[in-house]
Amino acid sequence: MAKILVVEDEPAIQALIATNLKRAGHEVTSAADAESAQRQIKQALPDLILLDWMLPGMSGIELARSLRNDERSRIVPIIMLTARGDEHDKILGLETGADDYITKPFSPRELVARIKAVLRRRAPQATEDAVEIAGLRLDPVSHRVAAGGQAAELGPTEFRLLHFLMTHAERVHSRSQLLDQVWGDHVFVEERTVDVHIRRLRAALEASGHDALIQTVRGSGYRLSATPKVAD
Ligand code: CA
Repeated sequence: MAKILVVEDEPAIQALIATNLKRAGHEVTSAADAESAQRQIKQALPDLILLDWMLPGMSGIELARSLRNDERSRIVPIIMLTARGDEHDKILGLETGADDYITKPFSPRELVARIKAVLRRRAPQATEDAVEIAGLRLDPVSHRVAAGGQAAELGPTEFRLLHFLMTHAERVHSRSQLLDQVWGDHVFVEERTVDVHIRRLRAALEASGHDALIQTVRGSGYRLSATPKVAD
């Protein structure tokens, strides 16, 4: 269940894609051109972007390039959609930073499978795969967390926060990156909200000592790591 932004100017294709992605359990938003896609992305980062090559105004390739050149949107995986089957175009699309490439017409089943593969690789927090680190296990399907074999009770935000940190372990995330990735909203939440939920998350994991996995990196943000933190 990923948040997917579909950028496609043909209403019939846009509707067909939306129907199939919703059926596969995803949350879908749509944009008919690159400019309105940019506005939506500015508000909230999707987990994945399905991007039509041929758009009125700014092309899909140009949009992909600008998203890749931006620090904030760089991490969002992109699948290009196109009527062209040309090898040269395919190479250009991938060079621009697209993660995959689908030629129209495509079967809904192929589309859903490709999305799943790209999410697994690039946005594992948007998949339903269970993750386990150092005796801490999170299962998105049953929505359960076990710490050292004991069930841990987490609120919905703490659950999403832990899911993101576990699927992106050993890396430092700034508060604003966490807001984008976990809250999905860059604009309306204050950064100290992140600290509040980190505190709750640590409290929920304290009994088994797994709170030590959630590390504060001074001046930078937070990191989940199985390696004990060296004092700074
Ligand atoms: Ca088009």
